[in-house]
Amino acid sequence: MANWISLKLCPECGTLWCFVPYEPYASFSFLVKWPYDEKCFGSIAEIGDARVLHEWHGAFLRENWRSLAADEIEAIDRWRQRTYMSHNPIDKDFAEYPNEYLSSASEIVRYAENTFNKSL
Ligand SMILES: [Zn+2]
Repeated sequence: MANWISLKLCPECGTLWCFVPYEPYASFSFLVKWPYDEKCFGSIAEIGDARVLHEWHGAFLRENWRSLAADEIEAIDRWRQRTYMSHNPIDKDFAEYPNEYLSSASEIVRYAENTFNKSL
């Protein structure tokens, strides 16, 4: 699949999860529930070398990680420390390194709609 990003299907409930391993050494992986189908994922992955999907995944983490369970929040805090509280999508300096395609996770709908329109 496209650069360090893939879609995984849960065999039990059919949920599609977007899987991204983050630095350092791709040792911290996060699954975010993909709200559309596989075909839509593939189409959006073609934009900017999957950059749209990476920005969406990072934005989703940034917006939602505080609502996870306490042990998961602790694990994320360890990851943030390992990335010097900057090289991760939660702490990144967006003023200095702005996203190219979207600034909040909900903006993925714009890209999804474009792919749906294309296939009509
Ligand atoms: Zn499941």
